[in-house]
Amino acid sequence: MHPMVKPALRRGWRDLDTVQFGMTPAHALTLGPLDRATGGFLDLLDGTRGLPLLREEARRSGLPDGRVDALVERLAGAGLVDDARGGGPDADALREKREVLGRLRPDLASLTLTTSEPGGALARLAARRALRVQVRGAGRVGALLASVLSGAGVGEIDVRDDGRVEPWDVAPGGLPAESVGERRDTAARAAVRRAAPDRPPRRPRSPGSGSGAADPGLSLVILAPRDDVAVHAPDPRTAEPLLASGTPHLYAGVVEGTGVVGPLVLPGESGCAGCLHEDRTDRDPVWPRLISQWGSGRARRIGACDLTLATAVSGLAAAHALAFLDGGAPAATGTRWEVSAPGLTWHSRPVRPHPACGCGAAERGRESGKTEHFSTDGRPRATMAVQRPSAKRRSEAGAARPTGTWRAHV
Ligand SMILES: [Zn+2]
Repeated sequence: MHPMVKPALRRGWRDLDTVQFGMTPAHALTLGPLDRATGGFLDLLDGTRGLPLLREEARRSGLPDGRVDALVERLAGAGLVDDARGGGPDADALREKREVLGRLRPDLASLTLTTSEPGGALARLAARRALRVQVRGAGRVGALLASVLSGAGVGEIDVRDDGRVEPWDVAPGGLPAESVGERRDTAARAAVRRAAPDRPPRRPRSPGSGSGAADPGLSLVILAPRDDVAVHAPDPRTAEPLLASGTPHLYAGVVEGTGVVGPLVLPGESGCAGCLHEDRTDRDPVWPRLISQWGSGRARRIGACDLTLATAVSGLAAAHALAFLDGGAPAATGTRWEVSAPGLTWHSRPVRPHPACGCGAAERGRESGKTEHFSTDGRPRATMAVQRPSAKRRSEAGAARPTGTWRAHV
């Protein structure tokens, strides 16, 4: 191990023997008591030295035996230490690609704040390369969202849509002006390739397979429809094959000036489009009548989906998608997040498993004695304390679930 105090957090001495790591309440924590000599040793924990060399340096500067190991252990216990050589073979391979890693450094730094095991951040970043995500819809939201995921290192993004690029599909980071008139899916896939920090991973060829490529299954499907009725009232029938195959899926889009992210559906575990539909029908019996009118025949209008809202929705949806793909349970699980002008405050609305829905989430909830599995705790973290305030949330976020364990075949 080559211990490195996580460089993503700035350090400051609160008093003579207490160090504060980080500035913001979400990730900051304090460590103490720590004498000055030991504290000064923190600078040597920069990933360039292994433990034997560090022990030697400690002896030279007069620190007692065992002090270095105790310090590293204590820092590691607080989730403050990364291993400059850790993370396994995939992480090693990514380390070799200096240009690729150069592009992803800020993403890696972010991951160090949400992983506690040394080497875990680079391991997660490297694992993204093997993931396969499908994005359905390549309008302002879908194309940008797909590009963001690609830029963040997700290896394969398959964008699906029909028709040709219209002038109003163009968005910075998404479909470029030059693509107007091209096939929408082709243009979006080109945007995804341009955003990727690395060449797409090679799929191992399976012997005897006609197409030549083994299908690794989809880790996640993102439904980002251009049609605003589909955003507001996602059709449960569209999700049926995804539920049947156990494929996690996430909704995102803009409807009449309201941005929507979620729910992230874990089939059979959290509320789905069908649950949402049943719940809305319970609350408002004319809901189905309205949907059929909204969706009927008239020529498609151009929806109110301004660039800032489309960008905000794309970014938040990509963040929730990545949090899930990296092995967590983001706050969009079983929840719809909505934002509208002029307040621009994100509100969460739970999508509870409904007993009339065939997805099985309600039965599962009853079996385990609770209907809500997932924390939607969006409250700001309280104060900087000795304990890292987000530790509870991180463990709730399913740190034990290895990346991609929800991978299913469609
Ligand atoms: Zn359901």
